[in-house]
Amino acid sequence: MKVYVMTDMEGISGICRRGHVMKGDELYQAGRRYLTWDVNACVEGCFAGGADEVVVKDGHAGRGDNLIWEELDSRAEYVMGGGSARRLAELEGSDGLILLGFHAMAGTPEAILEHTMSSASWQNFWLNGTLTGEIGIDAAIGGENGVPTIMVSGDDKACAEAERFLPGVLTACVKYGHAVEGGRLLPAEKAHRLIRETATRAVQKAAEIEPYVVEPPVTARLEKVSRGDVPSHGEKPYVKVIDGRTYEVTADSVEQALWRL
Ligand SMILES: [Zn+2]
Repeated sequence: MKVYVMTDMEGISGICRRGHVMKGDELYQAGRRYLTWDVNACVEGCFAGGADEVVVKDGHAGRGDNLIWEELDSRAEYVMGGGSARRLAELEGSDGLILLGFHAMAGTPEAILEHTMSSASWQNFWLNGTLTGEIGIDAAIGGENGVPTIMVSGDDKACAEAERFLPGVLTACVKYGHAVEGGRLLPAEKAHRLIRETATRAVQKAAEIEPYVVEPPVTARLEKVSRGDVPSHGEKPYVKVIDGRTYEVTADSVEQALWRL
């Protein structure tokens, strides 16, 4: 059984400040360690649950250089750096998808580091009319490849969002949001145990969980933060402009729709 772990940073245990997830200073280096520890706990849980192959994608910020490679569990393999056009590169053949360290969608009250794709430029995003964040987006990419999302970890708002979109998914709530940059955090040992045990149960239950499917044709609507920030019909003929901040594209899949945006 193959498990694919897509990672983000905002929902990792111990992370509660923007500096934890932005390249640079001491806080970011701590954030990398927290991410690596959550990944190791998750990998351990997957193998304990019966996985015989685990692939982990370093997903935060698109650079693929957040994980501390030399400290990673030696039983899994890691998709790092750039180069693949696929958001979930090497997902093929997976029996379950885990979204580790995810965050609630843009605009969620009292959610730690909430946003959808880009806090600077994305305001709201819909797939076939449903307001959707990164949990729904990646679960849908899993779904269109026949892979169910079996576990999500993050703060309480991310876990509630996951349960709303993905019936049967297991969640590991490692912190409780008070604001964009703060909340009540579980200590490291407790958070890692929760992730490990949830991953074990999720892998054992994977066959019972249905993939999340957004039926094609997929219409993706994006409302930007700033006025005038929409492509013209001339540069992207498949774009339908709704207003000065909002446009939509239609595509054969969620993954293709994301490219067309
Ligand atoms: Zn992120």
